[in-house]
Amino acid sequence: MNNLPMLTFRKGKKQPDWLDKKVALFNRYWKLQGEKIFKKVTNLANFEWPSKLVESGITVYVKSDRKSEYLGLIFEDHPEKIDLFIKKSYKFSRIRSALIHELLHSIMWARIKDGRIKGPSLFEDFFADEIIVSIVEKLANLNRSLTKKDCEDALLFGIDQAKERLNLRSLKRRRGYQGLLDYLLDFSNNYRKNIKNSDILKERKKVNQNIPSPIMFEM
Ligand SMILES: [Zn+2]
Repeated sequence: MNNLPMLTFRKGKKQPDWLDKKVALFNRYWKLQGEKIFKKVTNLANFEWPSKLVESGITVYVKSDRKSEYLGLIFEDHPEKIDLFIKKSYKFSRIRSALIHELLHSIMWARIKDGRIKGPSLFEDFFADEIIVSIVEKLANLNRSLTKKDCEDALLFGIDQAKERLNLRSLKRRRGYQGLLDYLLDFSNNYRKNIKNSDILKERKKVNQNIPSPIMFEM
C-alpha cells in the first residue's frame, strides 16, 4: 500500500485520568486493525494520502464525553487532528465507525486544503461533505447494500451538521425530498463500482451538483 500517515491516540488537555487507559487500549487496537481501516478508507476514497498528512501524521485526541450527540470532530483547516468524545464504557468497536467517518473527512480535506477554504458560506460544501462521508462510512462498515433508511440517515445528518456549522436555526423538508433519497440510494448502490474510475472528491462534486441546497427548504 502507498504511504500512510501514522495515527496516534492521545489524551486531550485537562482530561480525567481514566482516559489514560483508554488511550493505551485504542493505540493497541490501532496496531492490530489500523492498516485494515486505512485500507478501507483509502480504497473508498481512491486516492493516496496527501504527503503533508503522511509527514505530519494524524493525532486523535481522546476526551471525555461532552454530552454531544456526536463522537467525532474535525475541522477542515486541520485534517491532521481529530477529537473523539467517549464514555468510560466505550470499547474500540464503539469508536470505529466514527473514526472512519473523520478519516474520510481528513483525507478529503487534506487533498483540497489549498484550494478549498473560501469561507463558511458554502452550505453546499458542508452539506455534500457530510452526506458523502456518511454514505461512504456506512459502505465501509456494513457488509450489505445501503437501504433508503441509511440514505435518509445520511441526508438528515448532512442537514444537521451544516445547520450546526452555519448557525442556521431551522430547516425543513421541502418538496422533492423523496427524489433526493432516491438519488442517494442510487448513488450509494453504484459507489463501489464508480469509485474505481473516480475518487471521493469527484463523487462529492456529483453529489453537490445533483442535490439542491436544503437552505431552500421551507422554513
Ligand atoms: Zn462529518
